[in-house]
Amino acid sequence: MSMKLYILDGGQMWVERGFLWHFGDGAATGEEYHEGPFGIRNIQFFIDHPKAKVVFDLGFTSEWFDRLPGFPHRRGPHGHHLMKTPDQNPVSQLAKIGVKPDDIDYVVISHLMSEHTGYLPEFAGTKAKIVVQEAEMEYASRIGTPPRPGDEPAVEQFHTWMYVRDYFEKKGLDYLFIDGDYELLGRDVEILSLPGHTPGFQNVMVRLPKTGPVFLSACEHRGMYYDVPVNGYAPGIPHAFTWSAAGELWSFKRVRDLVEKEEGQIFFGHDQEQFETLKACPEYYE
Ligand SMILES: [Zn+2]
Repeated sequence: MSMKLYILDGGQMWVERGFLWHFGDGAATGEEYHEGPFGIRNIQFFIDHPKAKVVFDLGFTSEWFDRLPGFPHRRGPHGHHLMKTPDQNPVSQLAKIGVKPDDIDYVVISHLMSEHTGYLPEFAGTKAKIVVQEAEMEYASRIGTPPRPGDEPAVEQFHTWMYVRDYFEKKGLDYLFIDGDYELLGRDVEILSLPGHTPGFQNVMVRLPKTGPVFLSACEHRGMYYDVPVNGYAPGIPHAFTWSAAGELWSFKRVRDLVEKEEGQIFFGHDQEQFETLKACPEYYE
């Protein structure tokens, strides 16, 4: 049996356009701010490797996101900021191919924000190692919501609402903390440390026997790597909601260079347009 990669559909969200795209100011761009919703997909990945079963990211729950007036404060074309059928979550997607949370060896989490950790509690008490950068857990536990009694208020408070302790501090989760790049299954499944969007942000490179190298980019869409900001010179548009814009741009450059060198491709976790062209579970890439 050789390695297979599955795309797990986690539903659709709408964000404020200016939330994901770090635009320049009006004088530099010559444009007014574009109000309005921007559709993004929320997908996760399953890697069925002869040596281990690996899930990359765990999506969002309607339960938590329905509390928000929007993401943030913008709704989609139908008056919703998210649309999700009951099977658009990683656990139901895996069930389509007969895989249960108890079968999973590793859950790699790109970062601990709530639209990537919604189904983490399903893995409490299982054998799965939850693979997270040390720096990410340090950040999450320091700024997470709700604040811990007696803690100093975090300086980097603007991400606070996205770090939900009910998810990442669920009892029974067996974490494997890593620091930097990490070959999870040799070069077949390699975790790249890409600080920027958050302090411990990471993504995964899989090197498939037939498809070739595929970089799994959990929290991005294509334009963030390849579009040139209207008042900029080089490609790369970070999340407006980023911990370090410069760090994120360096991380994008690292990924662009790597993918070019290995003649690989990128599957984007939040790209609605690309999603429509991908094979989704139960189909797979090998
Ligand atoms: Zn995201």
